[in-house]
Parts: sequence; structure tokens; C-alpha cells
Amino acid sequence: MVQDGTFHLIERLGSLLRSEQRRLGAPHDLEPVHLQALAYLSRANRYSDTPIAVAEFLGLTKGNVSQRLMALERAGLLTRRPDGTDGRVVHLAPTARARTLLRALTPPPGWRAALQTAGIDEAAMVSALTALLAGLQRANAQRTFGQCQTCRFLRREKGGFVCGLTLEPLTPADTQLLCREHESAA
Ligand code: SF4
Repeated sequence: MVQDGTFHLIERLGSLLRSEQRRLGAPHDLEPVHLQALAYLSRANRYSDTPIAVAEFLGLTKGNVSQRLMALERAGLLTRRPDGTDGRVVHLAPTARARTLLRALTPPPGWRAALQTAGIDEAAMVSALTALLAGLQRANAQRTFGQCQTCRFLRREKGGFVCGLTLEPLTPADTQLLCREHESAA
């Protein structure tokens, strides 16, 4: 079946990418999950840069993720700062060294080369895969972790943006980041 073919291809791609991440991360004592957590945090907005959001995004338990985050902090790849208003919340951010590593390793160079060689229309592929991801998230009742442009809470006011959920202003750069509170406008 065509649908099963897509499934097997995506599974195989995932395995190959994890394998390349494992190989590239090994010299830095990083497993694929470390790189995934750092990559997520480099794209997460201020409502989504917390340990629980990392756990939800990666589909792992809080305890498991907590160990990984502590290892990243010890390695000087992650900083932690308390929230200004809620003492129970901490915000995480990749350090400059982590961002340099991410630029070199995520996505793996092999991915970029394969994409170029295959001559794929990346915009069309992103659109199809985004629809597939949304369908799976709906089926599993998971958070969407989308960007503001596709969120039902986004308001355009006085030439700028406001989050209708938190009622806080958003910069254009904020609207490009991943959000744990995102709910699809569709
Ligand atoms: S508009 Fe939606 S995606 Fe953007 S910050 Fe608010 S809840 Fe998050």
C-alpha cells in the first residue's frame, strides 16, 4: 500500500538521521536526544523553554529529560534562569557554544547534501509533512508546538502582534518560534 510505503520511508529516514546524529555527537559526548533538546530550545518561545515543555516535545518522561538537561548544563551547553514572576518556573537556553554546535550538526550535513542531490521542492515537502504531523498529533491528543502564524490566539493590533492567550505583545521574531500553548487556527 502507498500509505505503508510512506510510513516505512519516514521510519527509515528517522533511523538514518539518528544514526548520523549519534556519530556526529559522540566526539562531544552528546547523544541524539541531547541535540534534539538543544535544537528544540533554540526554537522555543518564552512560554515553552521549560523542562516540562522539552519532555512533552520529545515525548519523554520528566525524570528522563531532567537527567539529560543536567548533563547539558554540566557540559556548559545550557543555562537555567528562574522566571521573573513564578518561582516554580525555570527557563532554559542553549549557550553560545551549544548554538555553534547546533549550526554544525543540526540538521546533519548528510541531510543537507541528500536534499540538494535529490532536487526536492522543500516547500511542498514541508507542507505535506506538516499536515501529516498535525493529523498524528490530533490522533494522539498531543500539543501541536506550532508557530504564532497558525495559532488561533494570535492577534494583529496596531501594526504589531499580541498573544490573545497571555495578552502579552509579541515581536515578529517571537512569532517565528515554537510555542507549547499553540492551538491550530484551522
Ligand atoms: S499566539 Fe499562540 S503560538 Fe503565539 S505565543 Fe500565543 S499561544 Fe503561543
